[in-house]
Amino acid sequence: MLLISLLSVGSFLCESVSAVQLSAGVAKVDITNLEAGPANDPLYAKALVLTDGETTTVIVTVDAVAIGEIGYIKNDYLDKVREQIDKELNINPANVMINASHCHGVVCSDVAERTFKAVKQAAQNLVPVTVGVGTGHEDRIMENRRLKLENGKEIDVRHAYSLPPEEEVAGVGPIDPEIGVLRLDRIDGRTLAVVYNFACHPIEGVPTGENSADIVGFSSKVIEENLSDGTMALFVQGCAGDINPAFYKDVNRPRDAEPLGNLLGLSTLKAVRKIQCKEDNRLIVLNETLELPRADVAQRIVALDAERERLVQSLRGTFLNLKTFLPLAVKYNLATEFPSYESHRYLHEQELGREDLKKMDVTNRAHMQQYVQNIYTMEQLTRLNTNLALLRKHQADLVDSGKRSLEVELLGMRVGDFVLTTFPGELTVQIGLNIKKQSPHEHTFVAGYTNGYIYYAPTAEQLQNVGGAQEDSDCIVAPEWQKIYEDKVAEILRKIK
Ligand SMILES: [Zn+2]
Repeated sequence: MLLISLLSVGSFLCESVSAVQLSAGVAKVDITNLEAGPANDPLYAKALVLTDGETTTVIVTVDAVAIGEIGYIKNDYLDKVREQIDKELNINPANVMINASHCHGVVCSDVAERTFKAVKQAAQNLVPVTVGVGTGHEDRIMENRRLKLENGKEIDVRHAYSLPPEEEVAGVGPIDPEIGVLRLDRIDGRTLAVVYNFACHPIEGVPTGENSADIVGFSSKVIEENLSDGTMALFVQGCAGDINPAFYKDVNRPRDAEPLGNLLGLSTLKAVRKIQCKEDNRLIVLNETLELPRADVAQRIVALDAERERLVQSLRGTFLNLKTFLPLAVKYNLATEFPSYESHRYLHEQELGREDLKKMDVTNRAHMQQYVQNIYTMEQLTRLNTNLALLRKHQADLVDSGKRSLEVELLGMRVGDFVLTTFPGELTVQIGLNIKKQSPHEHTFVAGYTNGYIYYAPTAEQLQNVGGAQEDSDCIVAPEWQKIYEDKVAEILRKIK
């Protein structure tokens, strides 16, 4: 057994490797819940342990929806894993980063124990490494899911929402096509690990509907299979709050994450191959706590309840029902001039000075319009109900908590020229773009979904739309949070210079 007893990774490192050279080890453990039905592909907890002999950091990525709060990873998971890492490996728990890919796969119940196992194995496999950083580009597999409407509001491309009538859609939001890449090579030039950061909800699914690590499971596989044997690809989810897989609402072909993952994997490989690794022992980890204001949406709930009542009252009686409406909708769109019979009959009536068919068409069109108006109102109500349920849940939690603020953990990490900052929620993409733009470091990347989960964290501007889309409804922070957070990140980034 490779028992270095690991009572102290620190003392072990001093004996094995020089303090000026970075060392790294990787390992992965399968965390698929096999009792949850068949799996299309395995879900993993992957660990990368990095040390310069003094500072040791652990980057863990898990194929799960979130670190606690929602999904299958319990709230005690992070503390449990950190405690074990502290106790058995003597690594500072504050230096441990656990990022959830946000795939919607089902993980096993002993995921904490298995995660620790991966970290322990990685810590036992340390080898000296060289470090390289670069960026890749991928803009084919995702899209911003927030639609800007003509009335100034925004709604999401979501399974839970019917999309609005096309004429109401005025524009779409941004994406971040950048793939942030940290490459670690063994001294002999073989790749050991690729850490890659990208922003997209990995929620495409596979045609069988089976359990899956989704897009990022496939991209990691492509990366690993095309580099040196034993290379570990660790996907770190970025600011994916409002980023969906492309064609997310397609109903004409089976949903399949594999081609999207393959594209992301190939684009990452392209970047990896351009990176020249060199000796670089800069390893800094900062762990800071930030207090953020909680949202109080009581007034908004009252306003939305009133809006719902208004919509319900606006529903009018209709001549048509679904059965009579559908064939008319086909006919009146197929032959707009002569929908109800062949053209010669219309011409015949015209010759006789009659307009029976034309008059019926006018009446039918009016009935169809009334019917469609009710349908649109119904669609609005379904979206409103979904959003109100989210707002009510979070408002009840606010009242139960008795607190007007919450604390979040932020990490700042530097490995050579690779700079990463983390947040425990679903940052929307603009926030990641802002942080990158303002950073003093060329290669700055942002990871959401890390070391906890506080739901969506949209921009202050997006929070003017509370109750309109998922990110602003499934959210527990007040609009002022964005400036407080971005200022704090700027401070952290300055410190890890
Ligand atoms: Zn999400």
